[in-house]
Amino acid sequence: MCSICKRRKAETKIKYSNLHLCPVCFRKLIEKRARETINKSEKLERTDKIKLLLHPTKKAQALLRLITPIEKRYYRQFPQQKIGQKIKVDFIFFTNLRKTDGLTQKKIFNEVKNFCLSEGLEINLHYKKKPVNRKSLRKKVMEVSEEITRGPKEKLMLPINLDDVITDFLYSAFTNSEEPFKTTLETLKMEKIIHPMLKIPDEEIEQYLKTLNIETGKELETDKLTQKIKDIINYLEKEKPGTKFLTLKTLQETFLNQEKGRNKGSNKD
Ligand SMILES: [Zn+2]
Repeated sequence: MCSICKRRKAETKIKYSNLHLCPVCFRKLIEKRARETINKSEKLERTDKIKLLLHPTKKAQALLRLITPIEKRYYRQFPQQKIGQKIKVDFIFFTNLRKTDGLTQKKIFNEVKNFCLSEGLEINLHYKKKPVNRKSLRKKVMEVSEEITRGPKEKLMLPINLDDVITDFLYSAFTNSEEPFKTTLETLKMEKIIHPMLKIPDEEIEQYLKTLNIETGKELETDKLTQKIKDIINYLEKEKPGTKFLTLKTLQETFLNQEKGRNKGSNKD
């Protein structure tokens, strides 16, 4: 039985919070967390024009689905803001990490298009097929971000999630290089870039798509080190549920909050 609605059958167990949830309550939980993450970042205003930068992965598919509940909160609640404030979707493909599945890309591309049409979202499709490796992916994202948020009130949402930030940190640590963590940190600091999935781990993204009956494409192939890092993180999470959240918190406190405090004055939080 579901821990929240107490009516429907529980299908997902959330170890770190000891909840057993039905698909409906699970979906609501994820959408709520995305909204809370956005609210807490204080980066989004009601009159902003939102753009999405996606690549053909599960994360991009999930972010796209989260857009409608986010839009409802920020736009539809305020009828006077409604006209002309539709989310604009810029869909940009990155064929990152050498081997990609062309069919999967095309499939997701079409899926995005159909979704936007059915939700009445304004869609603007871009197709950048320049191959990038893991190290340069974040930099490429930054470049494009600056390019497409030049206009006033234009904000960008990225499908970077909890596992990405931790993986980027460990990747930089293991390879003794600034990238990709440096750029990830920069995007977290930028006022124009919003990360709705910052507090959603990989396994919940997968589950979220499942509750929406979305057939997920194959993930892009990653290099050996990245896979190893992901395995370590997942092992720790399994042994000690909540490790991912704790690690993110530590990283934020170590690398982000100090600067935020300096910029905004220290009388907050
Ligand atoms: Zn329920």
